Amino acid sequence: MTATASAQTDARDLFTELTGAVPAGSWSAPGRVNLIGEHTDYNDGFVFPFAIDARTVAAVGVRDDRRIRVISTFDPVPVEVALADLDGLFPAHRDEIVEWARYPLGVAWALQDAARAAGRDPRSLGGVDIALASAVPVGAGLSSSAAIEGATATALNDVWGLELSPVALARAGRRAENDAVGAPTGIMDQMASMLGRADAGIFLDCRSLEAEVVDLGFTRAGLEVLVVDTRVSHAHSTGGYGERRAACERGARIMGVPALRDLTPADLDRARELMDDVTFRRVRHVVTEDQRVLDAVRLLRAEGPRSIGGLLDASHASMRDNFEISTPELDLAVDTARTAGAVGARMTGGGFGGAAIALVDHARVAEVAAAVEAAFAAAGFGAPHVFTVHPSDGAHRDR
Ligand code: ADP
Ligand code: MG
Repeated sequence: MTATASAQTDARDLFTELTGAVPAGSWSAPGRVNLIGEHTDYNDGFVFPFAIDARTVAAVGVRDDRRIRVISTFDPVPVEVALADLDGLFPAHRDEIVEWARYPLGVAWALQDAARAAGRDPRSLGGVDIALASAVPVGAGLSSSAAIEGATATALNDVWGLELSPVALARAGRRAENDAVGAPTGIMDQMASMLGRADAGIFLDCRSLEAEVVDLGFTRAGLEVLVVDTRVSHAHSTGGYGERRAACERGARIMGVPALRDLTPADLDRARELMDDVTFRRVRHVVTEDQRVLDAVRLLRAEGPRSIGGLLDASHASMRDNFEISTPELDLAVDTARTAGAVGARMTGGGFGGAAIALVDHARVAEVAAAVEAAFAAAGFGAPHVFTVHPSDGAHRDR
């Protein structure tokens, strides 16, 4: 049984333990991996993530009152509030809710608001019980947060008859994460989790939120994506993220553009003359990374997946040397994977730890994984968690 199949059983069993009844249905949404386009989202640029074959499941039943109760396999204690109280809780009093429950309750809050904006009387939305189980590992850079938001949003959209689009549900997930949880993230993860498709990526313009499903063709080409979770998270990640954002804003201001998205590689010579070296290198990363996303989409279409290896490699080099967010563990994972025969490799996610990905021939996966594990042991690093992921469908109703 796959981890997602277990989560499906676990969510339904948990629902029955909680309520004594069977759920009316179950819905699920996947985690994601970002193939290329790092730290471009908050610069209004381009990203290219895909949904993965690990999902969070929400088993849901309706209640005859106007209360919402959530429970997760993470926590034996359910959390219950009146739907009418959600507006008073978020965002001002979110601290009264245990952190994990802010994700599903925040989604309910955001959707209730979206329903109101669409002219629905919120009092027409009935109470629900939601039991959650997940096959997406937490904190491994695979966005378990977008998965729990997407599963909850898709379920409530159906149960409440809201008929909101996948993009509107992604926005509700982001609002939950930003305002109900308090995490200042972009919308990439939610878009990937909502819109994913088997063997395809989501090419997303973070300014217009226009999204295109782009065939990856990994399966046809016999390629796999290997994830190396270094299981290292550096303490300065929060401060480092803020510093990078500030440098990007400074660079855009100096160049007189609304966001770094508005620059092209041809502007970099001028940028070098106008700003200090650190700011320049931050700008150079973002501007070249946007270009690499555009090139990856173009090359995939023209020449197929083997042609993007060099772009993955170049993306990593830029994060290491320009943006300075890699770590010795990530560099070792990437270099070793490449030497062992990967088509291309890069760190993925915000940096300062987390995971790297490598595009690898199916026949070489075991060899590359073993090489990375051996290199980590030889360097005295803790053992990484190495596994494959497959580009998969986005959020949907399971049964
Ligand atoms: P990630 O990179 O995995 O998205 P985040 O910190 O953004 O890491 O989100 C992880 C948090 O999301 C968890 O700490 C928990 O609060 C919440 N979460 C994710 N999945 C579940 C779940 N199945 N049940 C309860 N909470 C969950
Ligand atoms: Mg997250």
